[in-house]
Amino acid sequence: MVEVSREYTYRVAAKIDFGVDQIKEISMAKNFACTVSDKVTYDAVQIFGGYGYMRGYLVERLYRDNRILSIGGGATGIMKEIIFRFIL
Ligand SMILES: Cc1cc2nc3c(=O)[nH]c(=O)nc-3n(C[C@H](O)[C@H](O)[C@H](O)COP(=O)(O)OP(=O)(O)OC[C@H]3O[C@@H](n4cnc5c(N)ncnc54)[C@H](O)[C@@H]3O)c2cc1C
Repeated sequence: MVEVSREYTYRVAAKIDFGVDQIKEISMAKNFACTVSDKVTYDAVQIFGGYGYMRGYLVERLYRDNRILSIGGGATGIMKEIIFRFIL
């Protein structure tokens, strides 16, 4: 999933470089990357167990920092609204 997200992001970025209108795809790529990132960091905490939950361990920090990705730079709800506007 991480690799799919990365490749999709690169593909959208490449199209932007060629001047192709990518507003819907940018929103889709961001939301997909956030979904993947949510799962990766959630699973990482689960794998590390109690240490994954404790301050001072990198996994806890990654899990916490990950939350901003779905809020900053275009919140997930806003990205969905943009996607729906193009689809409907
Ligand atoms: C650590 C941090 C750093 C930041 N750095 C910057 C920065 O450098 N530059 C900058 O410009 N901003 C920055 N911000 C602000 C950030 O861009 C905003 O927090 C972000 O745009 C979300 O806006 P909001 O907090 O007002 O939430 P809201 O817009 O109130 O959204 C709250 C929730 O409601 C949902 N929502 C809102 N409207 C709709 C809708 N119409 N339909 C469906 N769902 C909706 C959203 O998806 C979200 O889940 C930063 C924020 C943080 C926390």
